[in-house]
Amino acid sequence: MPKKSLLFVASEVFPFAKSGGLADVAYALPKALTKDYEVNVVMPLYSFVDREKYNIKNMHQALHVTMNTIMYEVELHGCEYNGIEYYFIYSPVLCDREFLYGTPEAGYEDNALRFAIFNRAVVELLKDGKYAIAHLNDWQSALVPLYLEEHKEIAVKTVYTIHNLAYQGVFEKDVLQSIEIDEKYFHIDALEFYGKVNFMKAGIAFADLVTTVSPTYAKEIMTEKFGCGLEGFLRLHSKKIVGVVNGIDTEYFSPSTDKALYYPYTNISNKGRNKNEYLKEVSLRGQKKPLFIFIGRFTWQKGMDTLVESLEEIASLSCNVSILGDGEMKYHTALERIASKYKNINLKFGYDESLSHRMYAAADFLLMPSVFEPCGLNQMIAMHYGTTPVVHKVGGLSDTVEVIQRCSEKKSKGCGIVFKNLNKQTLLKSVKNAIELYNNKTKHTQIIKHNMKCDFSWFKSAKVYDKLYKRVLHG
Ligand code: ADP
Repeated sequence: MPKKSLLFVASEVFPFAKSGGLADVAYALPKALTKDYEVNVVMPLYSFVDREKYNIKNMHQALHVTMNTIMYEVELHGCEYNGIEYYFIYSPVLCDREFLYGTPEAGYEDNALRFAIFNRAVVELLKDGKYAIAHLNDWQSALVPLYLEEHKEIAVKTVYTIHNLAYQGVFEKDVLQSIEIDEKYFHIDALEFYGKVNFMKAGIAFADLVTTVSPTYAKEIMTEKFGCGLEGFLRLHSKKIVGVVNGIDTEYFSPSTDKALYYPYTNISNKGRNKNEYLKEVSLRGQKKPLFIFIGRFTWQKGMDTLVESLEEIASLSCNVSILGDGEMKYHTALERIASKYKNINLKFGYDESLSHRMYAAADFLLMPSVFEPCGLNQMIAMHYGTTPVVHKVGGLSDTVEVIQRCSEKKSKGCGIVFKNLNKQTLLKSVKNAIELYNNKTKHTQIIKHNMKCDFSWFKSAKVYDKLYKRVLHG
């Protein structure tokens, strides 16, 4: 039987453009699906994407996007990368920007128009009928199922994945005209959200199936605490909402072949050599002390308030702390102020893929005190690199990290220090527990070995997606 065709639509895809986990997923999941599907991936061709490096070429196929009588210039570009054919949508309004969505403080004012152009261009791509399924992701491609309501002749099924409910794409009502969406969709069961337009609601309302990135998060988002105002709407659609835990690309994140590392490794002693080199690289001293790392966006979601609040006391313990990230200025300032007082804290602002790999390899513990975490990739990458996670029991962290006491031979979950009720006291206590564990070499080695053997690849989740696609195709 010929393979079904699938178009995977995302606003960021590694290695072309990445601001977070979505880019990793949009790279790795399509690759894992190629066994059963003919997959193409499409994303915007932001001006900072390196066209030369990836041999991205103009396909000279114009896509016609006209909204509110304005005709937008839209080009289709393409390249092949690691066995997948990628498409890129180029339109000056969408792409000629310094950032993907805006600064950490605020999104671009014309984001509704920018991503409506992207979504309309995707609908143009779907018109030739090649694709059986369009897999859409987050608010930036959530309008596709709605635009398809107006194109019933296109026989495509849609799966919509929520990677983070906190970013819904909410805009003033008056954008409707410029993005050519009929007022008939402006009601509570579709786009309307407290008098505004909510792109994510379009994805939830009109896609054939909705997934989110872990089973626990799928349940959490239907509660007031985690639902970001959409809990009622999600409950209404609960029959078509499924949680599928993400994986990591274990070919790319592989301690035994990772080119960013000083010493690729498969055993713990070589991991120690990476720690030595890393400490030198960032001028930290004390190879015998445990090294804690934090990698991620500096936002409330990632537990930055608790981290900042606890950092001085953590630094007063016998350990080193290395932090890599970028985000809100208030966190930059607070971290800088604390780090200036402690020699055992190293700070690096910005996005640095290669450095992050050396950190995962060097560290003893990863701190992940997220307030909420749809899935989280850091903890899986860390465990795969033999770094023990210290996590708040929430969302995908709950589904991927088991408490040490229950660290079994089962390879489906890793184990680490897991705490409930995020606050300064629980985080500090967990860090102290981690240091105690570090001093119990036999036990810690056992945990590291277990985690490094766990299967965090996309293999299992790709099988679940395959089943879900079949469900939408065949009912
Ligand atoms: P998010 O909520 O940001 O999507 P995830 O845990 O799903 O978080 O994915 C984060 C991904 O981005 C991981 O691959 C992590 O290593 C990477 N990452 C985050 N911040 C940085 C940074 N400053 N430098 C390098 N990699 C980073």
